[in-house]
Parts: sequence; C-alpha cells; structure tokens
Amino acid sequence: MQVVGNHNLHTLEAYNAPVCVLCKACGHRGTVHGITLRRLGGVTHGNMTPLRHYKYVCTACGSREHELYLTHPPYVPIWLSGHGPPEDTPPAG
Ligand SMILES: [Zn+2]
Repeated sequence: MQVVGNHNLHTLEAYNAPVCVLCKACGHRGTVHGITLRRLGGVTHGNMTPLRHYKYVCTACGSREHELYLTHPPYVPIWLSGHGPPEDTPPAG
C-alpha cells in the first residue's frame, strides 16, 4: 500500500520489510530498511516519526521526489524488478 501521513516505523515493523521507494523523476526503485531510518538521526519522535518525513534521495538521479510503499517481504524483489505497485495482502501460508 502507499505510505500515507500516519505510517511510521511501528507500521514498518508490522510488515517486517523495507520501505519501497519509487523515484517520481526517473522511475528508479529502491528499498530503505527501518534500521537505516533509525540511524539517520535529526528526526524527533522516534518510532512515531512519519515515514514520509525522512529524506529519501534517489541513488540513480538524486531526486527527492518519491512515492513510498509498504509491502510484505516476498513481494519486495518482485516490486524491485519493475512490477507494481506492491501487493498489500500477505502471501498465503
Ligand atoms: Zn531517480
């Protein structure tokens, strides 16, 4: 699902997966793990900091324009390969 204002690190932990970051400028897809976000510092509210408040910079073009998605671990490589937006439903089994 697309990340909205009230999604935070607690939400991310529930998915047990990285944040899926889609660059709106060039279409590059990447992931950012929660532990990386925790290390960024400079952001208050700890785990309650909305995911959208962190700064994501595209590793391909340097753009900061992005869309964030949450998905479950089995879907992350599928999404990275160019299919998406990522599935929201947990995989069967
Ligand atoms: Zn980009």
